[in-house]
Amino acid sequence: MKKHIFNAGPCKLPASTLENTAKAILELNNSGQSILEVSHRSKDFQAVMDETIELFRETFNIPADYHVLFVGGGASTQFATVPMNFLKKKAAYINTGVWSEKAIKEAKLFGEVEIIASSEDKKHTYFPKGIKIPTDVDYVHITTNNTIYGTEIFEDLNSPVPVIADMSSDIMSRPVDVTKYALIYGGAQKNLGPAGVTFVIIKDEFLKTAVADRPIPTMFKYSVHAKSGSMNNTPPCVNIFALKETLAWVKSVGGVKKMEKNAIERADMLYAEIDRNKLFSAPVEKGSRSRMNIVFVLNEKYAPLQDEFIKFASERNIIGIKGHRDVGGFRASAYNASLIEDVKALVEAMKEFEKLKA
Ligand SMILES: *Cc1c(COP(=O)(O)O)cnc(C)c1O
Repeated sequence: MKKHIFNAGPCKLPASTLENTAKAILELNNSGQSILEVSHRSKDFQAVMDETIELFRETFNIPADYHVLFVGGGASTQFATVPMNFLKKKAAYINTGVWSEKAIKEAKLFGEVEIIASSEDKKHTYFPKGIKIPTDVDYVHITTNNTIYGTEIFEDLNSPVPVIADMSSDIMSRPVDVTKYALIYGGAQKNLGPAGVTFVIIKDEFLKTAVADRPIPTMFKYSVHAKSGSMNNTPPCVNIFALKETLAWVKSVGGVKKMEKNAIERADMLYAEIDRNKLFSAPVEKGSRSRMNIVFVLNEKYAPLQDEFIKFASERNIIGIKGHRDVGGFRASAYNASLIEDVKALVEAMKEFEKLKA
């Protein structure tokens, strides 16, 4: 039986992604070869690449004057690639926890960093509001969903300077006004596909006019990937294929709007139970609570039951709910492919556990 997967990443994927990728691993479209074997320069793979980019554009409503790139290295490599390309003198960063801190650390290698907002004072249990963006910076960087602490912003910033966003863990979980961003990046493995492929959405005008005057190694130049259609070197072919299958699934079930509706439904159900249940509570402020990563803890009196609840849940086929080592407690990650049935199973387990322990 398929488990109720709440892993923070790599994530649960739609059944059609798994089935169709498995088929393509055996044979890609009657080509006589596996997607693992096919040349990335072949007509067969080019068709996969073209379709993936097309589906990405369509699903996420990306204007024609943006490129969609697929690269390696994970979102973590983008932490460095972004400032390497675009930090001339000073950049503004919003600090909402571990992932933004990692991005800030890399940016400091290339120029000045101004932290314009931070949730550090309350252990990153809220998303800073009313962020004032200065005009004397090359760009502002934001992490839209904080996978570890479970905070999320649900609107697109209005900014006088280019906005660069790490959307690793909430991409395509709500409609986004892409025109408000100069660059959006993320690892695919949270909401879209398997690990090993990183997406970059970049505005052509920004790429043409904003690149810093410093030597940049070839593989770290966005312009190289844009010019070559993400084919400067061998792309992660099978990961891109799986990504395409997830995008096709998103489209077939009703697009990003439907993903948002599902995400709200799942998150509301789980937070309602956390708030109701005597054993548990949610540390994140209402209004900042992530729909993707739902963080909760045992109330002090019940804190010693931590491991017991994880075991209790796993006996009910619920896996991946252990909190991040920096936060403790529990974290249920409910990405695009998560089912309401998965959340119902977890809610049932919480209710049963309460009956036994409270
Ligand atoms: C997981 C995650 C990353 C790191 O992604 P990798 O692809 O593993 O490098 C960066 N940012 C956020 C918000 C994440 O959730």
